[in-house]
Amino acid sequence: MSYQSATGPIGAEGRYWDALQEGRLELPRCTGCGQWHWPAVWRCGACGGWDHEWVEQPIKGEVFTYTRTHHPFGGAEAFTKPFSTLVVTLKSVPIRLVGVLEGDETGLRIGAPVTGTIARTAFGDAQIPALRWSLA
Ligand SMILES: [Zn+2]
Repeated sequence: MSYQSATGPIGAEGRYWDALQEGRLELPRCTGCGQWHWPAVWRCGACGGWDHEWVEQPIKGEVFTYTRTHHPFGGAEAFTKPFSTLVVTLKSVPIRLVGVLEGDETGLRIGAPVTGTIARTAFGDAQIPALRWSLA
């Protein structure tokens, strides 16, 4: 029971990365009890089931919390400082996802509605898909 992504076996969340690479946000739900899981798991902690379905989600939510980065650090070289990183509670399912805010930051606050897009970010020599948020 292992998921083989386009780049090799990368764990229970492989489907997430492959879907993001193809331009969709998909998250896993246990087919036994309906529990949403993120990070992805092989086995549901609520009912013990092994089967999950991956369901496409709209990339919309509201700011749960955020932090502003003013100083450079490894892995964030591509971002113009300062930049803000958001933890967003999705509107459609009770899951929170992280991504960098792009565009105008006027109105940034906890609870602000945001919409997301799928961009690419540098990770070592690779370009990997990543969520970017914009204030709605
Ligand atoms: Zn379950």
